[in-house]
Amino acid sequence: ALELKGVSHGYGELQVLKNIDLLVERGERMALVGPNGAGKSTLMRILAGVEAPLAGSREEGHNLKFGYFAQDQARALDATRTVLEEITAAAPFDMVPRVRDVLGAFLFSGDDVHKRVSVLSGGERNRLALAILLLHPANLLLLDEPTNHLDLQSKDVLLDALRHYNGTLVFVSHDRYFVDALATRVVEVGGGRLASHPGNYEDFLRAREQTGDLSHSRER
Ligand code: ATP
Ligand code: MG
Repeated sequence: ALELKGVSHGYGELQVLKNIDLLVERGERMALVGPNGAGKSTLMRILAGVEAPLAGSREEGHNLKFGYFAQDQARALDATRTVLEEITAAAPFDMVPRVRDVLGAFLFSGDDVHKRVSVLSGGERNRLALAILLLHPANLLLLDEPTNHLDLQSKDVLLDALRHYNGTLVFVSHDRYFVDALATRVVEVGGGRLASHPGNYEDFLRAREQTGDLSHSRER
């Protein structure tokens, strides 16, 4: 669905990605994991096409419709609006009649929908940003830490929604439970390189135990 070839990227002296190749296959659910500062968000921005790599290429398949959730996506919300006003303003025309259902699914009930965005908690903001994103049709979702600030129940709501999603998914998460429940492949970002592990997070941990480093299964 989407492919990076020979991508290198960095900021000034800092080299964040070193000549990486990554093929995102249609229908897979890829988790990107790795330590803070490893370059996961940088990679996601390049995948989303919002940042151009310094070297290498990005090729997207036909008729791709992206949904990109940035790590700080909730900051894009208009704080002066109420929850209902904000989602109604952002919804595609044909989805406007459904916004209350979607808010309900993301655990905004009753008077919650009339709260101003400015007074929402961190988790509530993220839930609203996710609800808005998922209102839009997409066959490729790129989600950078969508579980940020989410409580356990909200995580399960999101997990359920994503398990029923039949498009292609690439997501960043530091949440072991979430990765384990959702990923069909785990790609580890570290030292500017990628290591790809088929299977879920348990498989990934087992593979790591055997080799103890990143070098054994470099992405093509
Ligand atoms: P986290 O898990 O904390 O979200 P990450 O893996 O997403 O980390 P990135 O945000 O991709 O990491 O950042 C990778 C490195 O690039 C970090 O050292 C960061 O400081 C640096 N970096 C990212 N964006 C910029 C920028 N616009 N200018 C300068 N340095 C940047
Ligand atoms: Mg990040």
